[in-house]
Parts: sequence; C-alpha cells; structure tokens
Amino acid sequence: MKGKTAAAIMKTFAEWSNTCKELKPACRSGCDTCCTRNITVTALEGEAILRYVQENDLTAEFALTLGKTLSEQPAISGPASTANEFADACLGERDVPDDPEPSTAPCPFLQDNLCTLYPVRPFACRMFISSVVCNGKQPAIVPDFYFEAATCTIQLLEHLDQKEYWGNLYDVLGALAELREFRRIGEIINDQYPGEIRKAQMRVRAGKPLPGFLISEENNDKVQGMLDSIFNATVEGRRLEDLLNGR
Ligand code: SF4
Repeated sequence: MKGKTAAAIMKTFAEWSNTCKELKPACRSGCDTCCTRNITVTALEGEAILRYVQENDLTAEFALTLGKTLSEQPAISGPASTANEFADACLGERDVPDDPEPSTAPCPFLQDNLCTLYPVRPFACRMFISSVVCNGKQPAIVPDFYFEAATCTIQLLEHLDQKEYWGNLYDVLGALAELREFRRIGEIINDQYPGEIRKAQMRVRAGKPLPGFLISEENNDKVQGMLDSIFNATVEGRRLEDLLNGR
C-alpha cells in the first residue's frame, strides 16, 4: 500500500502542475543539465528503481554502474538534514547544518542525454523544471510557488516512508541492495566493489515524520490547493490523508 500511496502522491502532483497555466517549462527531451549526483530519495523510490532494473533484465549493467558510482562517492554525499528535519529546524527557529558542496558530476544513469530509469525516476527528478533553458552558465529558474509545492510533496513522501532509508540516490540504492529481494544486485556490487554497500549504509539518513510545511504567505492558496488535491486523492477507496495519518 505504501508504494501505491507514493505513486498516487506523485501522480496527483503531476496532474496539479499540468493545471498551472503560469508554469511554462523550457525543459525538453534530451535536456540533462539537472541530472547531477545530487538527487535525494526515499527507500520506497529506491525500491521501485531496483525492481524495475530486475524486471527489465538490466541487473548486471546497473549493478556495475552503481558499484562504480558508490566507489566514487565523497565521504559526505547527501544533505545534512532530511527535508522534514530541515522544516522542523526552521519551524523551531533552530540553525540548520550546512550541506556539502553539490556535485556537478553527471548522473551515471544518463545515457545519450536520456534517463535509463525514466519510468521510475525519483520524484526529485520528476519535479525539477526550469522556465529557461539551463546550462553550465544559465542556472535553472523555478517559480517560487512551484518550488514550495514540490518541497511539500517531498516532505509527504518522506513522512510516508519515515524510519526507512533517506538520502542521496546512489547511497539509498546501494544500501537497499543488501535486501534479499535485490540480492543479485548486491552480490555483483560486493564482488566488484567490496565494502561499498556498507559505506553507503553509513552515509544514508532515516526519513522523519512531517513537522509541518514551509509555505510563504503569498503562495499559500496555490500550495494549499495542491495539498488538498493530494489529501483528497484515493487509493483503493481510501483517502491519501487517512493513509498518510496511518488511519
Ligand atoms: S535518475 Fe534519471 S532523471 Fe534522475 S538524475 Fe539520473 S538520469 Fe536524470
């Protein structure tokens, strides 16, 4: 049910963003400037990727790519706080620790400017848009209301998967490769890149419950509208708000 709930959250966000007439993304197939190694995911998203890899006979190539990427990871690879830890600190007016310098290296799952995991790409990849064509000199421009709505959605996904792995995409995938379901991927990584799964497990954080949202006054109506769409969506006849609240 958690996987279906996560899928419903992402689908509802996408439907809401399609109704936002002021959003005019310049993103096109083949754009890959935002495909760097700074993507964060929940364990649920990581599991969906690993299942897709196994079901589509991509296991060996994927495991070698992931193992090599893990061997190249810096000692601190993900943000210093999860999205909900960050929100909790801001709402409590506490300092938030600095994040490490973002990596500019391309995502290893990019091939010929296209994502090889496209059907199961993480929410952080799905939500990223820019109203200008971005490149090394032109950073992405993301409308504030959209960024706030996407951040709320990231927080909901973390809340849904609280206590499970949360962190940098490759670390979460590596950490999950030890599960029996993904044993073949784990075996290849352990064989070719011994010790990297353990290191990945040391680098990931755990998802935290939702402490509240960070929504600005000027964007409140739009973001609340998006949240209402998510809360009122249903999975097997049950409202997402109830599912997120464990009811
Ligand atoms: S997973 Fe796919 S969409 Fe996400 S950063 Fe990597 S190549 Fe880009």
